[in-house]
Order: sequence, then structure tokens, then C-alpha cells
Amino acid sequence: MTNNCIRFVKPVTGAITVNHFTHTVEATPRAGPGQILVRNVYLSLDPSQRRQMMPGVVYAEPLHMGDVMIGRTMARVIESGRPEFQQGDWVRGKFGWQDYALSDGTMVEKITLEGFSPSAYLGVLGNPGITAWVGLNVIAAARAGDTVVVSAACGAVGSVVAALARDRDCRTVGIAGGPKKCAYAVNVIGYDACVDYRAGDFPDALAQATPNGVDVDFENVGGKVFDCVLDRLNDNARVALCGLISQYNLAEPEGLRNVAALLNHNVLVQGFRLANYPQHRPAALIDLKRLLLAGTVRQDETVLDGLDKAPQAFVDLFNGASLGKLLVHIEH
Ligand code: NDP
Repeated sequence: MTNNCIRFVKPVTGAITVNHFTHTVEATPRAGPGQILVRNVYLSLDPSQRRQMMPGVVYAEPLHMGDVMIGRTMARVIESGRPEFQQGDWVRGKFGWQDYALSDGTMVEKITLEGFSPSAYLGVLGNPGITAWVGLNVIAAARAGDTVVVSAACGAVGSVVAALARDRDCRTVGIAGGPKKCAYAVNVIGYDACVDYRAGDFPDALAQATPNGVDVDFENVGGKVFDCVLDRLNDNARVALCGLISQYNLAEPEGLRNVAALLNHNVLVQGFRLANYPQHRPAALIDLKRLLLAGTVRQDETVLDGLDKAPQAFVDLFNGASLGKLLVHIEH
């Protein structure tokens, strides 16, 4: 058996390109005592993987030159030298951009599908969905009647935030790139309004879409988009600072101009990383499963076929090419 691997081979200072990766064909390892061998089935492509390519990353292990590219997958156990895993089990772990991976079982979660598709466990029922739940409920403490603004509105996290906020009787306003995505946000995801940040009239359009100001900003993007939202914040607004995707491909981060709004309006800004809120995972999962079954939360996915598609798909993640959770289907 050969193992197709995609390795990270070039330091990144600005925008990521396919030239930062190389495809190698290697021998598939065998599981020794205390190890499992897994076959990756779905690979999750996440903006945070780009952050781990930055020198000086502090919140996670940095990637090193030549490493197999990091990535969380849903995989099947092929060989097991550990009693807690059986051949055929579904497992979720950071098994990387490759066909097969060896593990000692650390940080590997055994997943019982419970009738949901395996890919859901990387999206709505994985970190993106749980991040949306924690950010909206715990960090921003959204309440009925709040106007909730969500940037990267059609993405893996943003689309779930919208569904959860609507379920709480909030007014939801998305921010997305281009008229097609904005139409999708309103007509399919169910936002009350969506504003195109690429259009020249973005600040005015955002003001029109938020006539009563903004009570909660679920911030996924940062930069100029965030700056415009700051200008719309109400007294005692809450900002759940989840991500800064507009900054990850920049050699130097942009500054913010409207910081005074935070002071003037008594705003609470809280950055959060899901990894620091493990205590909320069980409640979030129960809720997300219920809402997924009820059709309140959609399982939006962009799925590409074949590991070789991963580098270009990852580059395109930062160009807004995908809707919902971006996945690569490695093996059927
Ligand atoms: P998405 O699927 O939303 O990411 C892609 C989308 O982001 C694109 O489709 C694009 O949408 C938007 N985008 C990309 N580049 C830019 C840019 N330069 N300016 C504005 N928008 C841009 O990713 P996720 O839902 O997985 O993640 C959303 C955010 O949440 C990210 O910032 C991520 O880092 C963060 N995150 C944080 C976690 C935490 O624990 N704090 C956990 C998980 C994610 P469009 O076409 O609309 O521009």
C-alpha cells in the first residue's frame, strides 16, 4: 500500500500558494504495539491551518518545513494495536493531509455516527459548529431581540451562528463577499439581511442593514470589515472575536481606526479559542444534533474529491471559493 502525502515545504510570509506544498508517495506504515493505523476519509480544511504556518505561532504547535500538512480528519481504523480501538471504527483526529496515518491514540476521538454523516463531525458537529455555539451563547450571550452581525457569513462557523441566532429570535445580518453569496445568505441560510463587503458602498449598506445598531458582532474576519462593524455597535454591545481571516495572508496586520467605539459604547470584546472551553462541548453537541435533525441548522458543505485537490482548495479558502464547511473526500 502506498501513502499519498502532502507536505509543507516552503516558508510562508504573505499569501499562501500551491507552491508551499509538495505531493509525495511513500510507503504506508504498519501499526506496532500500542498504535493504530487509520485510513483518512474526509479531510477538513480550516483557516487556522494557515495560522499554524506562520513563524512564531503561539496557540498551537507550529508546522515545520517538510512536515505532512496538518489537518483534522474523519478516518477509519485499519489496524489496531490498542484495545480501545477496533478495525472499522470511525475516529476523528489530527491525522494530516495523507491517505494513512499512524497514531498512539493520543487526542483521537472515537465517533459513533448516530445516523449523521461522517462529514458532519468536521462541520456542524465538529469544531466549526461548536465554535459557533460557544461564541454566540457563552461569549456573546446573545438574547432575543439582539441584532447579531456575522462576518464570513456563509462559512463553516458563520452559517451555524446565523441558524443559532435565528433560533434565539435575534435579527441576523451577514457580511459576505459578492452578490451571489449575499443572496445565498438570505435565501438559503436565512439571514434577515446580508451585506457585500467587497462593494464600494459597504459602510452605508451595513448602516442600512442595521438601522437599530449592532448588539452582537460575531467577528470572523477582522481588518476593514471589523472596523466598519465597530462603527455600528450599540451601548453594551458584545464582540465575540472568533477569527481574523482577512489578516492571515498578510505579511503585516492592518490596524483598526474605530477603536473609540469600544470605549464610547461600553463594549465588551472577548477573543476566544474553542480549545479553552471544553466544558461546553457536551451541551453544544446535544443542541447542535437536535437542531440539525430539526432542519434548523443546515449541513452546508463544499466537498472536493481527491487528496490532490487539497492545496488549491486551501488557497481558494482565502478567496471565498467555498460555501459552508470545506472538505476533501480522500477515499470513498
Ligand atoms: P470559512 O469557511 O468561513 O472561511 C472561509 C471564508 O472566509 C471565505 O469563504 C470568505 O468568505 C471569508 N474570507 C476569506 N478571506 C477573507 C478576507 N480576506 N476578507 C474577508 N473575508 C474573507 O472558515 P471557518 O468558518 O472555518 O472560520 C471562520 C473564522 O473563524 C476564521 O477566522 C477562523 O480562523 C475562525 N475560527 C476560530 C475558532 C476559534 O476557536 N476561535 C475555531 C474555528 C474557526 P467570503 O466569500 O464571504 O469573503
